[in-house]
Amino acid sequence: MTVSWNRIPQVEHAAETTLERRGRALPEVPRPLLAHGLGRSYGDVCLNPGASLLHTPGLDRFVAFDPATGILRAEAGLSLDALLRFAVPRGWFPPVVPGTRFVTLGGAVANDVHGKNHHQAGSFGDHVLALTLRRSDGQLLEITPQGHPEWFAATVGGLGLTGLIETVTLQLAPVRSAWMRAWSERFDSLDEFWELNARGEREWPYTVAWIDCLNPGRDGRVGRGIYSAARHATTAPRKAAWREPRRSIPLDPPVSLVNRFTLRAFNHLYYRQPVHATPRAVHHQPWLFPLDAIRHWNRIYGHQGFYQYQCVLPPHAAQDGVQALLDTIAASGQGSFLAVLKTFGARAAPGMLSFPRPGATLALDFPKKGQATERLFARLDAIVQEAGGALYPAKDARMPATMFRTGFPCWEAFADYVDPEFSSGFWRRVTA
Ligand SMILES: Cc1cc2nc3c(=O)[nH]c(=O)nc-3n(C[C@H](O)[C@H](O)[C@H](O)COP(=O)(O)OP(=O)(O)OC[C@H]3O[C@@H](n4cnc5c(N)ncnc54)[C@H](O)[C@@H]3O)c2cc1C
Repeated sequence: MTVSWNRIPQVEHAAETTLERRGRALPEVPRPLLAHGLGRSYGDVCLNPGASLLHTPGLDRFVAFDPATGILRAEAGLSLDALLRFAVPRGWFPPVVPGTRFVTLGGAVANDVHGKNHHQAGSFGDHVLALTLRRSDGQLLEITPQGHPEWFAATVGGLGLTGLIETVTLQLAPVRSAWMRAWSERFDSLDEFWELNARGEREWPYTVAWIDCLNPGRDGRVGRGIYSAARHATTAPRKAAWREPRRSIPLDPPVSLVNRFTLRAFNHLYYRQPVHATPRAVHHQPWLFPLDAIRHWNRIYGHQGFYQYQCVLPPHAAQDGVQALLDTIAASGQGSFLAVLKTFGARAAPGMLSFPRPGATLALDFPKKGQATERLFARLDAIVQEAGGALYPAKDARMPATMFRTGFPCWEAFADYVDPEFSSGFWRRVTA
C-alpha cells in the first residue's frame, strides 16, 4: 500500500504501475490515473484511492545539459538529490529547493514547490523553461511558458492532474561551491522576528525562522524562535569536510513519540541551541535539508500518522494572523516540533493553482489526536479564511472543499485542463 509522507490517509489503489520508459502510451490500468513521485507530499494530492498510481522514479534519465548556460533537460522522475550530485560539482544548483532533496522534478513542478529563497527566486515553476506532457489520448504536448502559456500555467502547480509530465527543462543557478555562508539569531517575540526578517530578506537570498510554538517569550506570548539566513559561498572552507549522516528511525514505535512533554522539552532545548550571529561556512545539505539527516523521521508519529498544517496569509493580515494562529495552537497544547515561518516575495506565481503568493507562510506538524486535532484545525481554518489566506494542497489531508475553492479561486478555470483520465484523492475531495 502506497501512503504519503504523513501516512494519512491509508488507502488501497486498484493498480500501481512503475514507469521506466518515456515516449510510451499510458499503461492499460484502471482509470483514473495519477503520477506518483517520491511521495513526499503530506496527504492525498499524490494518492488515488481505488484507482491507479503511475510510479515515476524510474523515469530518471538526464536528457541534455549545457555546462555553459546551466540549462538541463531530464526525465521527470529524476530526484533533486540526483540532480544535486550531478550539478553541484559542475558549478550549478537547482534554483529553488524545498526542505527535502528527496522529491522528483515532476513533483516539484506539480506542486510548484517553494524554498527558503522565495523572496528572491520565486517558486520552482519560475525556472522551468519547457515541459513535455503525456495526455491520456496519446498526445505529447511540448509546453513552454511563451508558446503555451495556458497549458504551462495549468501544469505548473497543477497537482498532477493535467497528465503525465515526462520531461522538465530547467534553468539552473550558478554556484561556486557546495557550501553556504549562514548566520542565525534568537528572537524573543514575533515583533522581533518581523524586524529581523525585514533586514534579512533585503540582504540574504535564503531566510527562514523556526518558532517555539509552546513556550512563551518574555512578553508571555508564543512567538520566540531562531532566525537563519544564508547565501551560497564563493569558496569552500580550507578544511572543508562534510559527511552525510546515516541516522534513521528503523521502525514504527507502537505509539507516537510526540506528546505534550516531548514537544515542550524539544522546543525548549532547540531554542537554547548555539546561534552564530557572524556568518560561517555550512554545507548546503544540513542548512537546506535539515530533516534529511534522519531517514524515515516521519515514523516518530507511529503508524497512525500526523498532519502538517501549512497556510499562507496575505501581507496586510500576516502579523496579526500569525500571532493569532500561534496563540490558538499554544492554548490547545498541541504543538509542533517543526514550526517554520517564512515570508514569500511579491512575485506573481506561475501556476493557476500555485500556493506561493505574497505574504507569510507558517507550517506546523501535529500528531493525529482525533477530535481534539479536528477542533484545533477548525479554529485555525477560521483565522486563515478571515485573513484571506489559503492552505497548501501538497501538505493537506483534510481541508474543507470550501476552503480550497476560496483559497484557489482559479480552480474552475483550471478544471478545463484536467486530463479526463486523471484524478486524485485530493481533487475528488475538494471538488465533490
Ligand atoms: C521534509 C519535507 C520538507 C518539505 N519542504 C517543502 C518546502 O520547503 N516547500 C515546498 O513547496 N514543499 C515542501 N515539501 C513538500 C514536497 O516538496 C512536495 O510535496 C513535492 O511535490 C513532493 O515531490 P514528490 O516527487 O515526492 O511528489 P509526490 O508527493 O509523489 O507527488 C506530488 C504531486 O506531484 C504529482 N506528480 C509527481 N510526478 C509527476 C509527473 N511526472 N507528472 C505529473 N505529476 C506528477 C503527483 O501526482 C502529485 O500531485 C516538503 C516535504 C517534506 C517531506
